[in-house]
Amino acid sequence: MKWIVCFFLVCIAASCTDISADSNAVKGIADSEKNQLQDSSKAAKDSIQKLREIDSKKRDSFLLVYNLVDIQTVNKAIFVDLKYATADNFMKIVLYEKLDRAFLQQEVAARLSNCQDYLTKLNPTLHLLVYDAARPESVQWKMWNALDSIPAKERGKFISNPKHKSLHNFGAAVDLTICDSKGIALDMGAGFDDIREIAYPSLEAKFLASGELTKLQVENRNLLRQVMRHQKFRNLPTEWWHFNACSRAEASLIYQSVKEEF
Ligand SMILES: [Zn+2]
Repeated sequence: MKWIVCFFLVCIAASCTDISADSNAVKGIADSEKNQLQDSSKAAKDSIQKLREIDSKKRDSFLLVYNLVDIQTVNKAIFVDLKYATADNFMKIVLYEKLDRAFLQQEVAARLSNCQDYLTKLNPTLHLLVYDAARPESVQWKMWNALDSIPAKERGKFISNPKHKSLHNFGAAVDLTICDSKGIALDMGAGFDDIREIAYPSLEAKFLASGELTKLQVENRNLLRQVMRHQKFRNLPTEWWHFNACSRAEASLIYQSVKEEF
């Protein structure tokens, strides 16, 4: 019996040695694969970083040519939620493949910064919240074509015909609202890019009388207009959120229109 027990113990020990040798070999292979993976992932990261640096340099020279500036570098109190860089917009798709910040002409950005300072004086807890600023013509075409169920004449109420260019293409128009310090937008009674008549500043009195807009919602829109008019931005009669820095004719004379994303 003793001999049988000893025999089994020797067998178990031998098999344990084999398992240990096998597991060491497997560990060796796994370590080498891990190292290879780490090396290739580092190489991938390095090349992405290099591409980013090239892109960032390209963008810097592009901004210089177009005289555009990131508005948050001009005034950090301005919040940005670039709706077309996300799927949270009327088309429910990401429209900006590269653009991830709000750019404006330098003098337009300076005026917007003054608007923020004015708003801060009126109420230090409030901020401008930018939904869109400079928009390349290529994206303007995407939007225009997406609304092709609306006749071109009617469509022009909601989006500028790309043939005639939009002030957004020059970085001379801005879509925005007002938000609190947590970034929560004030209630304007209609959302950004809402194409219903309830979004029309020109029809606010009618909707206030019918009770479809509340007094507070109209007051919030009035506050946004007051702040923007402080620097002579002009509102559109059909979009409470859209403000032009100048006329299209002026923009065509002094600014270049941005053709593609950068
Ligand atoms: Zn707009």
